[in-house]
Amino acid sequence: MENLEDLKEEVERLRLEINRLKSEKNKIAPHKHCLNCGIAIPPDKTFCSKKCEDEWNAMIKKKKMNTYIWMALLAILLIILVVSAGA
Ligand SMILES: [Zn+2]
Repeated sequence: MENLEDLKEEVERLRLEINRLKSEKNKIAPHKHCLNCGIAIPPDKTFCSKKCEDEWNAMIKKKKMNTYIWMALLAILLIILVVSAGA
C-alpha cells in the first residue's frame, strides 16, 4: 500500500519539524515584556522606554483615582440609605 508509506513519511517529516520548532523555542533568550505595550525587553527592565513607564504610571494613577471616586460614591450612597432608613 503506497499511500500508507506516504503518510508515514509525512508523519515523520512533521515530527522532525516539531522537534526543530521545540529546540528553536528553547534558544530564545530569557526576556520580559513591557508592562505598557508588551514588546520584548531585557529581563532586568520593566518598560521598553521612559515614555511607556510614564504612560503606565499615568494609567495606574487614573485607575486609583477611579477607585477612590467609586468608593466615595458608595460611601455617599450608604450614608443616604442609612439616613433615609433612620428618618
Ligand atoms: Zn513599551
